[in-house]
Amino acid sequence: MKVTVSAIKADVGGIGGHTRPSDGLIAAVRGVVQSSKDMLLDHYIGYCGDDVHIVMSHTHGTDSEKIHKLAWDAFMAGTEVARAEGLYGAGQDLLKDSFSGNVKGMGPGVAEIEFEERPNEAFTIFAADKTEPGAFNYPIYRMFVDALSNTGLIVNKSLARGVVINVMDVEGGRIAELEMWQDKPLLEAALMYPGRYVVDSVYTKDGEPILSASTDRLHNIAGTYVGKDDPICMVRTQKMFPATEEVGSVFNNPHYVAGNTRGSHNMPLMPVRLNSAATINFCIPIVEALVFSMHEGRLTGPFDGFSTPDWDLVRERATTKALEMRSQGFIHPATLVPSELEYAEGYKAVISSLDKKMVPMAGAAAAVKEGGVDGSGARYEDPD
Ligand code: 13P
Ligand code: MG
Ligand code: MG
Repeated sequence: MKVTVSAIKADVGGIGGHTRPSDGLIAAVRGVVQSSKDMLLDHYIGYCGDDVHIVMSHTHGTDSEKIHKLAWDAFMAGTEVARAEGLYGAGQDLLKDSFSGNVKGMGPGVAEIEFEERPNEAFTIFAADKTEPGAFNYPIYRMFVDALSNTGLIVNKSLARGVVINVMDVEGGRIAELEMWQDKPLLEAALMYPGRYVVDSVYTKDGEPILSASTDRLHNIAGTYVGKDDPICMVRTQKMFPATEEVGSVFNNPHYVAGNTRGSHNMPLMPVRLNSAATINFCIPIVEALVFSMHEGRLTGPFDGFSTPDWDLVRERATTKALEMRSQGFIHPATLVPSELEYAEGYKAVISSLDKKMVPMAGAAAAVKEGGVDGSGARYEDPD
């Protein structure tokens, strides 16, 4: 049986700031989805920080207008409640006034995969808040490329052949198909810079889909910097794919990601329990793991992947790393480079005031004109 799983998410308002949706907001989203449940095989609704996710299993395929409209209508209903309750950022991620066929490019994020259901279908959805799609670069690399993190890459026949990883260039609106293992250095060069290159999807060498991540809005508005989209990604697990514990454990080293307060800082990505609020401790980026089983499209779960006691230690490490980074205030790399600041306009205004105070230094202007501070015009070149 061919089934599609669509995980669609949006931020349509938070209590007292960018914290979490209200119960009323969630109830409104649920009401709309439940009123159309005939077109679904099953569904689940939850949130990560101030982002609401709707997980739907159905037979309408990917990019289905029906399914996307249902999610859009649900988020619109959530927005109405957010407005009525005076929630902060009501309708934040609904960038258009009316639905036009597909939520991609309209604000919400989408991770969806159509596949022939296995007898014991298993998948995990990772939902994150206060960060950007590039936050998944490091964990996805550990999942599919780093055998020190995932022994399955050695002992599982399908994974040992290497996978195909589609990487998007967020600035150029382009995508590259990278084949492991021959394209490994190209992949590494791309993933090195999560602000520009992000993983869109992963397939086996036989074309079986394993992973889909939300990169759409970035793609559609490429060319101008549109800020950070809190990402969601879905990974199929077990058998020819990585084991569930191989995809979960790659989040056990809380690495620094861009985002957090005002979308303008670097802080570690902290694994948290399902339906966690974003912390008001400077918005440490968070990620949740929704572990599902599925049979004939019916979902069992989610099991809360980051709820077991071991993750408390990881959370403690993330908090320690976060406080360490915050201890240097606004000095890089605690803050992002100017081109990646979400509040770039405010920064530009301050810098332009600084600029007006800048006067050329005696001698410096002449040196610049000559092409170098020593006047020789020579530049440093790497001795190859
Ligand atoms: P969100 O992207 O989660 O809405 O957070 C925005 C922000 O600026 C938090 O300080
Ligand atoms: Mg928000
Ligand atoms: Mg958010």
